[in-house]
Amino acid sequence: LKAIVIDCPKTFDAPVADPERFKAAAKKFAKILLDHPVCGQGLPAYGTNVLMNIINEAGTIPTRNFRFGRFDKAAEVSGEKLAEVATARGGKATHACHPGCVMRCSNVYPMPNGKVCAPIEYETAWCFGPNLEIGDLDTVAMLNYICNDVGLDTIDVGCTLGVLMEAGVMPFGDSQAAIAALEEVAQGTPLGRVIGGGPTNAGKLYGVTRVPAVKGQGIPAYDPRSCKGNGVTYATTPMGADHTAGYAVTANILNVGGTVDPTKKEGQVELSRNLQVATAAVDSTGLCLFVAFAVLDNPEGLPTVVEMLNAQYGINLTVDDVIALGQNILKVEREFNKAAGFTKADDRLPEFFQIEDLPPHHTKFDITDDELDEVFNF
Ligand code: SF4
Repeated sequence: LKAIVIDCPKTFDAPVADPERFKAAAKKFAKILLDHPVCGQGLPAYGTNVLMNIINEAGTIPTRNFRFGRFDKAAEVSGEKLAEVATARGGKATHACHPGCVMRCSNVYPMPNGKVCAPIEYETAWCFGPNLEIGDLDTVAMLNYICNDVGLDTIDVGCTLGVLMEAGVMPFGDSQAAIAALEEVAQGTPLGRVIGGGPTNAGKLYGVTRVPAVKGQGIPAYDPRSCKGNGVTYATTPMGADHTAGYAVTANILNVGGTVDPTKKEGQVELSRNLQVATAAVDSTGLCLFVAFAVLDNPEGLPTVVEMLNAQYGINLTVDDVIALGQNILKVEREFNKAAGFTKADDRLPEFFQIEDLPPHHTKFDITDDELDEVFNF
């Protein structure tokens, strides 16, 4: 099953219990977003791929299947480059992926073959760019386009291609080989089926132990050795290695919601725990997760979200209720995983992160198993 499509002949507005109160809260919330440097400036200018140069500069961009923390051609696949090329070709450097969004972080990238890839997110530009040592935006767009076409997650595919390059199936940096391999998914060839099976499967089949995945899901665009808060999230979130489930890049790199040294272990478990709880709550509201930057930094942010919820549904939630909601969601997800056979042993990163240094900071992932087991101590 790839998708369920609901073709509704007419649309309707969601019912709002108190429209005036909701409108006032939504207006206040839009201002909170626009006043924030990430939500109001960085994302609207270059989309999520504004992160490419920032994460590269921070030395935590996984390069050549997580061997290095910097890529010398990062600028070639960055948000700034994307904006330049997309605009020159008649595409859009930014646009709203749904009506009403004030951040407008999406993009429309016309490809040389006349087709359009929309959008190219940072994590996608990373997994097909630095991760494979490919410094070419048109290749990134083509790989992204094929993933969209066949219904595969770009991060998982990028990690799988990295494992296949590690195995010598194709060389790192070979754009044409990567595109040709990915085209085999739709053809149902043995290699196409390997790619569709994800990074963990590919590692087992080719005898590769350097597989960046947790619970079978590919690790995304921030190396856990020099963005350790994200490492805690990758290891412990019930979702698999999902950066969005507890995006510690905020305090680790962007100085949003506080500052926690990304290369040190101190404070990372608490940071990841708080973010995972907040994220579960924000996700359940239906808001785009990118509001979180402003919500974390502005003390009025979360109360305004609660005000919108109360106005929409005619209820009386408090901020504490929303936090309890987030905790409860995580407990339910963990119960689901337990029933599916997952144990504490699945809340771990691959071993190579603990024994190999990552240049340029030369750090390892040194948060212990016991410390990881403290994430869900609520
Ligand atoms: S809804 Fe979210 S993903 Fe879509 S354009 Fe707005 S900020 Fe970007």
